[in-house]
Amino acid sequence: MRWIFGDHLGPHFLDAEDEPVLMIESRRVLARRRFHRAKAHLVLSAMRHRAAELGDRCTYVQVDTYKEALDAIDAPVSVVHPTSRAALRFVRERGDIEVLPARGFATSMPEFERWAQSRGSRRLLMEDFYRDARRRLGVLMDGDEPAGGRWNFDADNREPPPRTRTLGVPEPVWPVEDAIDEQVREDLDRWERDGLVSFLGQDGPRRFAATRTEALAVLDGFIDQRLGAFGPQEDAMLAGDPWMAHSLLSAPLNLGLLDPQELVVRAEAAYREAGAPLPTVEGFVRQVIGWREFVWHLYWHFPESYRDRNALDAHEPVPEWFAQLNAEAVTAACLSAILDDVRSAGWVHHIPRLMVLGNYALQRGWNPAAVTDWFHRAFVDGYDWVMVPNVVGMSQYADGGALATKPYVAGGAYLHRMSDYCGGCQFDPRKRVGSDACPFTAGYWAFLERNRERLAGNHRMSRALAGLGRLADLNEVVAQEAERGSRAP
Ligand SMILES: Cc1cc2nc3c(=O)[nH]c(=O)nc-3n(C[C@H](O)[C@H](O)[C@H](O)COP(=O)(O)OP(=O)(O)OC[C@H]3O[C@@H](n4cnc5c(N)ncnc54)[C@H](O)[C@@H]3O)c2cc1C
Ligand code: SF4
Repeated sequence: MRWIFGDHLGPHFLDAEDEPVLMIESRRVLARRRFHRAKAHLVLSAMRHRAAELGDRCTYVQVDTYKEALDAIDAPVSVVHPTSRAALRFVRERGDIEVLPARGFATSMPEFERWAQSRGSRRLLMEDFYRDARRRLGVLMDGDEPAGGRWNFDADNREPPPRTRTLGVPEPVWPVEDAIDEQVREDLDRWERDGLVSFLGQDGPRRFAATRTEALAVLDGFIDQRLGAFGPQEDAMLAGDPWMAHSLLSAPLNLGLLDPQELVVRAEAAYREAGAPLPTVEGFVRQVIGWREFVWHLYWHFPESYRDRNALDAHEPVPEWFAQLNAEAVTAACLSAILDDVRSAGWVHHIPRLMVLGNYALQRGWNPAAVTDWFHRAFVDGYDWVMVPNVVGMSQYADGGALATKPYVAGGAYLHRMSDYCGGCQFDPRKRVGSDACPFTAGYWAFLERNRERLAGNHRMSRALAGLGRLADLNEVVAQEAERGSRAP
């Protein structure tokens, strides 16, 4: 019998056509942490849809714990390598479950380890991993050369947003809810009323694909209508257009409904056969077989203690207004709007995560483990493997630079250039002191001052630190931000 977890839902997690399947809906998993309601809905809906598709082949049990369900099965059980360290430990410790190699990633664990070993003492760089993956998988290659003669089109993909309210691309394909969603909603309402679970964020129409059919429709819509516009403004933000030309595929990918190779094959065909611009296609392929896979492998490559790294000695708690997604408590236009978006959908794209939410937490010295926990619970696509490296490493620089070469910290000037939030804000991105000082600009300098010594050895920070030395009003900025403390900006 093949036990499939809630993130093993695609056909590639099964082998024989008639193989019996076990699915366990564990209430304790939901009760343990306060997840976004949209995330709880998505995962339950996806699991129940899969069980319905599998029909009689599937034994679907609703229990409190995995153990309870497994103890009642008297057939040999196999499972594909789980996606979290805790789940892997659980299945290994039982001793009666066969653990198969991981699936759902284009680079296997042995392939990654071979590449990592080949680096010797050189740091593990995403760019080098990605080029190795492109060669090995034959993606966007013309013989031995990268398509178009360049591996990297990042420089073409950093444009500021247009001066329009939206990017003007067709909307993503939205799923249509059905009776299974209705039942999930009823169950969540009842469990909440009975005090068994409690949620973050708002209930709303399900925005993310929960079945393979839906996921393929979202993929088709993206490739045919949106991919062409993905690249140039992938780093930009528009208040009136949270989706822009992003694919919205992280949730179905992380549920295992799609295989990453399917995405890159489709994207490459759009370039070769339908005239999609190479920079945009390369930018997308880089996310899928570059960043996503790099993050997955680093989760397993780094020791378990990685999740507790705190290289910048950041110990402040995550304040309630942020933790509870209380957008109304916040005056800063960018942060307020993005908290509101997370509250309604459990999703914002990469740049609001990194350069607004993560940047604010980093500037304020919030504890990285608490920030990771918050992201994990608040985002529909959040799983341990993807949150730990993205938050501890990429966003909070808590690993001291093992993943990112410098902290992703920025002031209001960056946010002003890359978004249209500042026009509607009572703060001024150019100001660092006074009642209209931008909290991101002031927070940027206060962060550098606090971490001056810790960052001194990082040559990529030398210009920023030199700028700090030239600030005549630094003491004032630092005092102002100390006074702000954990208050909402
Ligand atoms: C602080 C922080 C937390 C994040 N947490 C998650 C998370 O919990 N789950 C998650 O899937 N992604 C996470 N990401 C990465 C990225 O923000 C999301 O994958 C992306 O915004 C999802 O939207 P999309 O599918 O429209 O992505 P697109 O912009 O369309 O990108 C295409 C795909 O690339 C992949 N991808 C790109 N970058 C990453 C990355 N750094 N890590 C993993 N996958 C990546 C995703 O699968 C995504 O679907 C996080 C990034 C940051 C900075
Ligand atoms: S001025 Fe500062 S706080 Fe206001 S929207 Fe711009 S970056 Fe955000």
